[in-house]
Amino acid sequence: MSEPNAEPNTPAAEHRDFIRDIVSADIAAGRISAPVTRFPPEPNGYLHIGHAKSICLNFGIAAEFGGHCNLRFDDTNPMKEEQEYIDSIQADVRWLGFDWVDNLFHASDYFEQLYAWAVDLIRRGLAFVDDLTADEIRETRGTLTEPGTNSPFRDRSVEDNLDLFARMRAGEFPNGSRVLRAKIDMAAPNINLRDPVLYRIVHATHPRTGDAWCIYPTYDYAHGQSDAIEGVTHSICTLEFDVHRPLYDWLIEHLPVPHVPHQYEFARLSLTYTVLSKRFLLRLVNDGRVRGWDDPRMPTISGLRRRGFPAEGIRDFATEVGVAKADSTHEMALLEHWVRDVLNRTSVRRFGVLNPLRVVVTNFPDDLAETMEVVNNPEDPDAGERPVTFTRELWIERDDFMEVPAPKFFRLSPGREVRLRNAYFITCDEVVKDAEGNVVELRCTYDPATRGGDSPDGRRPKATLHWVSAAHAVPAEIRLYDYLFTRPDPGAGGRDLLDDLNPESETIVHGFVEPSLADARPGETVQFERLGYFCADPDTRPGALVFNRTLTLKDTWAKVQARG
Ligand code: ATP
Ligand code: MG
Repeated sequence: MSEPNAEPNTPAAEHRDFIRDIVSADIAAGRISAPVTRFPPEPNGYLHIGHAKSICLNFGIAAEFGGHCNLRFDDTNPMKEEQEYIDSIQADVRWLGFDWVDNLFHASDYFEQLYAWAVDLIRRGLAFVDDLTADEIRETRGTLTEPGTNSPFRDRSVEDNLDLFARMRAGEFPNGSRVLRAKIDMAAPNINLRDPVLYRIVHATHPRTGDAWCIYPTYDYAHGQSDAIEGVTHSICTLEFDVHRPLYDWLIEHLPVPHVPHQYEFARLSLTYTVLSKRFLLRLVNDGRVRGWDDPRMPTISGLRRRGFPAEGIRDFATEVGVAKADSTHEMALLEHWVRDVLNRTSVRRFGVLNPLRVVVTNFPDDLAETMEVVNNPEDPDAGERPVTFTRELWIERDDFMEVPAPKFFRLSPGREVRLRNAYFITCDEVVKDAEGNVVELRCTYDPATRGGDSPDGRRPKATLHWVSAAHAVPAEIRLYDYLFTRPDPGAGGRDLLDDLNPESETIVHGFVEPSLADARPGETVQFERLGYFCADPDTRPGALVFNRTLTLKDTWAKVQARG
């Protein structure tokens, strides 16, 4: 992995934060020699940019302090979990640049141990089998101001509990008919301590354990114990889990675990114009609102990758936003800023025309094809040069012409001279229209003395246009993307998120690109001069190029900052 902070333009240099301070202090005090962290996704969807923050934090801390980070699947709910998600999560973590080496674990690896510990709790009178329904449990849980009430099954004998729990495991009872609950305190001020559910009955085939189990541990029961089994020192999760910490600690304290882990909470990532909820993203996929989990408009890691966002830009963004204890929303423009920063350094420049208008250079010989060498990337001398061919018939961008130029429009119009980048100056002599009056062709003349784009007499046209040779250019489908939502705060004020979807988030155009891109492979990123960064889409087939616009060239982050 390349070091995100090694480049001249670096994200917030000092990446210290309260969690790193805690880890340092634990090492300094001799409580640990090195941290063990974990990234614990539930395989019920694809990872998103919020998960990327957690991945960068957990793997980052492990690497910086000489420890290690486990990838642990929190696979305790077989109703929603699938192998496809397990595979995509591994691919995405790797693509982001992190490696769990051989520390790949699953909560399901510990089902037998977790069950034995649950039996242990029952034996010590600290857990009981409850016959209340989920609704009844909710209704008797009380509120923030009122205590809950004890379940009528709370005082079952240890023998009855052991028997019923064994029969739950044996598959004698239907889904939802019984649960195992910890026996803590129904009057506890923290609702999570009011006899929380530890096991529920779910007759479903698990992606890893198959039909071996029909009872599954809850997140609260499985998580801390998995941390303990793996020797995790710093179990880092998002803020909403702070109210679960007393239960996390209670279970660790009351079970014969081999190690005592600690939970720390940080603020989850939120981004403008974005929704980071797997449930909602799944709905977009299932309703066919997007092309799939990896649609380039999705905030998923696979969507960002398909869109052309480099892993390095995502890591830089994660470093820049840092780790805080209070929730806040970050600007999408900030993520884009770090992505542009990487793409500007790494993308070769190419010519592409999105909305083509034919130009005939009337004084250029019909049978001549003139080849110029053009630099690939002014930011990177090692990127070399490529040949670009100039001919009598060209495509330029339709937007670069106005028959009657508006006040500050300096590009092509009748009688005006512009520079064609790396080629010649041309002057528009004549506008050709179809029967409906649409402009279909411009007839221009070039000045042979301006080869390469410079005039010996010092003439300086006010505009420089990109172009491609009509005889050489390759057609391409180009997908232009805008934010998935029309508002920076989708769903705010109780609106339906679907009502805030941007109907113009994808626009498809058919243009032309220079022939050096004829063999572009999916994932290849380029800058189309003047237009933005683009990335060949996996839908690309031989002879049928598809490009996604990753981002335009305009960095709006400075403007956002100025606004305060
Ligand atoms: P859901 O969207 O269904 O609530 P989740 O985001 O909690 O799911 P998990 O698979 O449980 O999904 O998340 C794995 C890890 O990623 C957890 O440790 C969680 O705290 C962290 N995480 C999830 N969302 C964010 C976010 N927006 N910012 C930072 N970390 C996140
Ligand atoms: Mg979760």
